[in-house]
Amino acid sequence: MCSSSRHLWESNLKKNIALIAHDNLKASMAVWAQKHVQKLSTFQLYATGTTGKKLEDEVGLSIIKLKSGPLGGDQQIGAGIAEGRIDAVIFFWDPLAPHPHDVDVKALLRISAVYNIPMACNLATADMIIDSL
Ligand code: PGA
Repeated sequence: MCSSSRHLWESNLKKNIALIAHDNLKASMAVWAQKHVQKLSTFQLYATGTTGKKLEDEVGLSIIKLKSGPLGGDQQIGAGIAEGRIDAVIFFWDPLAPHPHDVDVKALLRISAVYNIPMACNLATADMIIDSL
């Protein structure tokens, strides 16, 4: 499921967008991605493992799948941000459920703020960000 880290961050002229959705919000992410499928297909997309597989299967997007969030995928995206390789993050984290990897979730929110990365944490903001990219 995980791409080799050597070629994880492809250098190309496309913007790199990271997509993550917690389990209760994966369906919403798929509906949102379907709505924006044409625009999203112009970007290089990265996603945590399970989110990426769902978007590939249900929306048909081509996605570089990282590890599943609880197994380090959030941290991989955080590393990409620290290395200047991520242009925007769509992160539907679940405010109504506890998560074993809560520290990773917080770290991703924090590193996005540190590097001033546009980050959407709900549908309304995701629409705004995708429309402005
Ligand atoms: P997943 O990870 O896409 O592998 O489910 C998301 C998360 O829980 O951070």
